[in-house]
Amino acid sequence: MFAEIIAIGTELTTGAKLDTNSQWLSQALGQIGIVVRYHQTMADDLAAMVKVFRTAVERSDLVIITGGLGPTQDDLTRQALADLVGVELELNESSLAHLRHLFASRKREMPERNTIQAYFPAGSEPIENARGTAPGIWMKVPRSDRDHHAFVAALPGVPSEMKPMFEHEVRPRLPHSGRVIRHTRINAFGAGESRVEELLGALTARGADPEVGITAHEATITLRIVAEGQTEAECHTKITSVRADVQQRLGSLIFGEEDEELQHVVLRLLQQRGQTLATAEAGNGGLMAHWLTAVNGFESAYLGGVVAPTESAKTTLLGVSPETVGTYGSVSEETAIEMANGCRERFQTDYALALTGRKNDTPEGTVWIAFAGPNRSEAIEHHLIGDPGIATSRAAKTALNLLRTNLVACESPG
Ligand code: AMP
Ligand code: MG
Repeated sequence: MFAEIIAIGTELTTGAKLDTNSQWLSQALGQIGIVVRYHQTMADDLAAMVKVFRTAVERSDLVIITGGLGPTQDDLTRQALADLVGVELELNESSLAHLRHLFASRKREMPERNTIQAYFPAGSEPIENARGTAPGIWMKVPRSDRDHHAFVAALPGVPSEMKPMFEHEVRPRLPHSGRVIRHTRINAFGAGESRVEELLGALTARGADPEVGITAHEATITLRIVAEGQTEAECHTKITSVRADVQQRLGSLIFGEEDEELQHVVLRLLQQRGQTLATAEAGNGGLMAHWLTAVNGFESAYLGGVVAPTESAKTTLLGVSPETVGTYGSVSEETAIEMANGCRERFQTDYALALTGRKNDTPEGTVWIAFAGPNRSEAIEHHLIGDPGIATSRAAKTALNLLRTNLVACESPG
């Protein structure tokens, strides 16, 4: 069974609003094994809507439309559906009674225009909307060959109304596909997308089951595993086996799953050990501090950070010696190490991470990253390449990853 989603609204095509309904609906349909092949976004235009609906019902078994069900002149979905099958709009008395009741319960007079929301294409069924005035529409639309048909569900555009209506009203009406789809995400850092793909070999081949896809977001590589089966347990078994294979091939490049980022993992590792961290950053506006303090419960492991873009901040707040900066420069191994050591001392933490670079000097600059721990310190040179926004994130992630690999190494025996 193939589905198609059509998002309606001029606010979407002009770019004033983003269509999030299609994303949500695709995920919800995917959960029950229905594959979505097309997304379309279109303006409030009656003739165009009828054309687009026609194309959709000819090629898809299920068409879900959102938007255009309000009471105003630009809400044309119900008229377009009537035109699509060549029928009139008919008054549904019980929908009208429901509308009147809704307005009365809110102690408001019902504007005449709202009556339109009680009209439905002849032969269709209203879909109840518990949260708003606009009911949805459920229809079986014949294809031009007359032997086949498509199901159409039109839902309001407001996400908080659309979602429960899909769950409670549309989903139970759908023919059961007999397939279940489950997803999992594995996150990795420390190698580029193409290198990861190479390491994964045949696992990422198109049509493999489960399917493994690679995406990159701000230098974090995410592997998305999609398993299809008759039951949830079958999907689970498939995912478990491919996860073990991925683990074998990528090893310590893997740091987490689902929504986990490096800061979540680093804080968790520190919390498990009862240890603490502080940061010192120059050239990135305190990105690590920003990420770390956004994690729930960070306070037990992350004690604070210093943003030290200037020489005076490095010397007065972190105790870096002016001679070091003078001799080696503010972006140097020596300065980075002194920043990390000074930071660790001042915050009295088990670990400190320091990063020093220059904001916006060239897209291809150098950053020094230092790690200071109870037993040793270490610095690495990192080259900024590519999009400056992503390069800055990659540098900060490289620092967090340096701590992660050190923490993980401590834990392994020997
Ligand atoms: P409508 O049902 O067309 O009257 O839409 C009502 C409101 O829902 C719009 O003003 C948008 O704010 C929101 N909305 C409509 N379509 C979408 C969509 N595809 N994704 C997210 N929000 C939407
Ligand atoms: Mg609209």
